[in-house]
Amino acid sequence: MINISDALENLIDEFSKLPQIGRKTAQRLAMHVTRMPREEVEKFSRALIETKDKIRFCSVCCNITEEDVCRICRSSSRSSNVICVVEEPQDVFAIEKANEFRGRYHVLHGIISPLDGIGPNEIRVRELLMRLQLEIPDQVEEIILALNPTVEGETTILYLTKIIRPLGIKVTRIARGIPIGSDLEFADEVTIAKAIEGRVAV
Ligand SMILES: [Zn+2]
Repeated sequence: MINISDALENLIDEFSKLPQIGRKTAQRLAMHVTRMPREEVEKFSRALIETKDKIRFCSVCCNITEEDVCRICRSSSRSSNVICVVEEPQDVFAIEKANEFRGRYHVLHGIISPLDGIGPNEIRVRELLMRLQLEIPDQVEEIILALNPTVEGETTILYLTKIIRPLGIKVTRIARGIPIGSDLEFADEVTIAKAIEGRVAV
């Protein structure tokens, strides 16, 4: 097979490294780039670099942010008494969109999955504990575990409950409005709002 263009092949390779992008889709995206006006391509590449340069992790909640600490942790209109623990930053976006939760967050950046070799030390559990023990003692009254109802989610809920309960903090989990094995990220706002409202003690 004759390679038509090294540059195009390179771009296809880069697109196929993205999550859920197969070779066919990568080709389609790369071909789309060849048809885009130059200024649009420039805008796109600038957005990539700018995002990469500006995004960091909040030193309090571990969510992605441009400023440390993040806007939610800084906001005086958000309650410090309730912390909602989620798996990924996308889950914060999803819950914020539902406009039901007025507390703060903690992002784990993963989930405990012994089969994949991911234990509590591989995700941001230590940061959560430090926060509960040192930074704001007596302030946190409830931890809401908004984790996806998968086997890994259940394992993580069990683990976190075991270590948080001795601190005298109430632990709840969101109601099971979200279908088993599905992602919080893809649930609609009404479902998320109901799941938070209907949370139950663990
Ligand atoms: Zn934060």
